Amino acid sequence: MELPFAESWKIKMVEPIRKSTRQEREVWIKEACYNLFQLPAEQVYIDLITDSGTGAMSDRQWAAMMMGDESYAGASSFFNLKKMISSLTGFDYIIPTHQGRAAENVLFSYLIKEGDIIPGNSHFDTTKGHIEGRRAFALDCTVDEAKDTQLELPFKGNVSIPKLEKALEEHHERVPFIIVTITNNTAGGQPVSLQNLKEVREVANRYKKPVLFDSARFAENAYFIKTRETGYADKSIKEITREMFSYADGMTMSAKKDGIVNMGGFIATRLEEWYEGAKGFCIQYEGYLTYGGMNGRDMNALAVGLDENTEFDNLETRIKQVQYLAEQLDAFNIPYQRPAGGHAIFVDALKILTNVPKEEFPAQTLAIELYLEAGIRGCEIGYILADRDPTTHENRFGGLDLLRLAIPRRVYTNNHMDVIAVALKNVYDRRENIQRGVKITWEAPLMRHFTVKLEPAK
Ligand SMILES: *Cc1c(COP(=O)(O)O)cnc(C)c1O
Repeated sequence: MELPFAESWKIKMVEPIRKSTRQEREVWIKEACYNLFQLPAEQVYIDLITDSGTGAMSDRQWAAMMMGDESYAGASSFFNLKKMISSLTGFDYIIPTHQGRAAENVLFSYLIKEGDIIPGNSHFDTTKGHIEGRRAFALDCTVDEAKDTQLELPFKGNVSIPKLEKALEEHHERVPFIIVTITNNTAGGQPVSLQNLKEVREVANRYKKPVLFDSARFAENAYFIKTRETGYADKSIKEITREMFSYADGMTMSAKKDGIVNMGGFIATRLEEWYEGAKGFCIQYEGYLTYGGMNGRDMNALAVGLDENTEFDNLETRIKQVQYLAEQLDAFNIPYQRPAGGHAIFVDALKILTNVPKEEFPAQTLAIELYLEAGIRGCEIGYILADRDPTTHENRFGGLDLLRLAIPRRVYTNNHMDVIAVALKNVYDRRENIQRGVKITWEAPLMRHFTVKLEPAK
């Protein structure tokens, strides 16, 4: 008999978590103005709000922290990190930042000016925020197939090459660079194929435009290339990442994802011009060039995290857990973005809460219901997150309205996945009785989902 699959690690330290009653949760969610970001974490049983900075570091990473060099300038930890990043990407210029959005802030301060257009696959919310905050435009050129959550395709995160070509044909003088997000978080954690990265590069070359990868989950993307794309089965993850980045000029990275650290990020590039242009903004916003926004110990832990998470076994353990949860949901016929993404399940709220009008935010309503059901905290990736159109100030109801269940790396067991699946099934079973959603009572002009205040719609 073939041995079943199991984790590629064992547990050395545990953190107790506590359940609560539905009665308690009804009080708490009201106090949080029906915004799950506003809940104290102690009021959450299983926390799936994000996979960002919530992973469990390994014993090797903790050991590396003890060896951190906290020198202000030229710390050995910086050179450890630089060496690891260069070996995975081929990029020689590195700027550490305190997290991914800080990398965007530093680099975009140099690259983007008012009126610019930045085409790419779906822009992540902070990326969009840093573009629109500079009065520039994020132009979504994701393949149309990504909008159909039930279509089983291997690379639904891809850039539509015809859309990209059209954008460049019409606006090339306003385009400072092309951005490709790997994996495509907003479209459901869907990967981008190497073939697509290559084609983006060809279009970019034709218009002499640089290409930037928003790389938060580049290792998971490489896992999907290895397991789904013809010709890569026998390549190592590190060989694949090297090839992926050969089609880019630089990257911004939220190290809180595939770096498996709790805080950190960086810019890496092969272009001396980008480095020279951005480095002043690093000093202004983050810190001196060899630490940017990071402690020496954290740079050390990140160097090890990047090494570990570009090994197949570690990635397989993670992605198989996400797929395990997907199989449990399949058994209950719960619709989610197919196939399961790398870091999360994106439940299709519009297909479940069909009685809740879109003006009352079905995905947010589903997130609240799941919390009330079992103390599980997911995250709306939908109409609230989409913000308002900067020119018309209308809500953007054109895209998907999803409930994201993000799975932290190396944190929960498959027993937790079983709890999540059954809790969602219980909500699904009473979906017809959920008639009303929520309405906004206060919102910020940008990235409103973090602080929005809601109340039940009447
Ligand atoms: C998380 C994320 C960011 C922003 O990074 P932070 O570390 O949260 O600031 C940018 N792009 C993508 C694709 C992300 O997933």
